[in-house]
Amino acid sequence: MKCPKCQSENVSTQVINTVKLKNKHHGLLWWMFVGWYWVPIKWIVFTVPALIFAIFGSKKQKAVNKRKTVCVCQNCGYNWNL
Ligand SMILES: [Zn+2]
Repeated sequence: MKCPKCQSENVSTQVINTVKLKNKHHGLLWWMFVGWYWVPIKWIVFTVPALIFAIFGSKKQKAVNKRKTVCVCQNCGYNWNL
């Protein structure tokens, strides 16, 4: 591997693991067909199931692993993504 800046062969690669938390949301269609009547019923009439739903609903977080390989030139310090 060659450095694109100084053409040096003295390049090290390292894998960087970044974790991103992604929130799951209801889509537009869900709100159009279900959400507009389900949410008021849920919160006014079914208070207990709503609380249970809220507890489980808050766990809708997804961990997304993203692997990134970064090359670092040992000669000039230039780094770039592979
Ligand atoms: Zn370089």
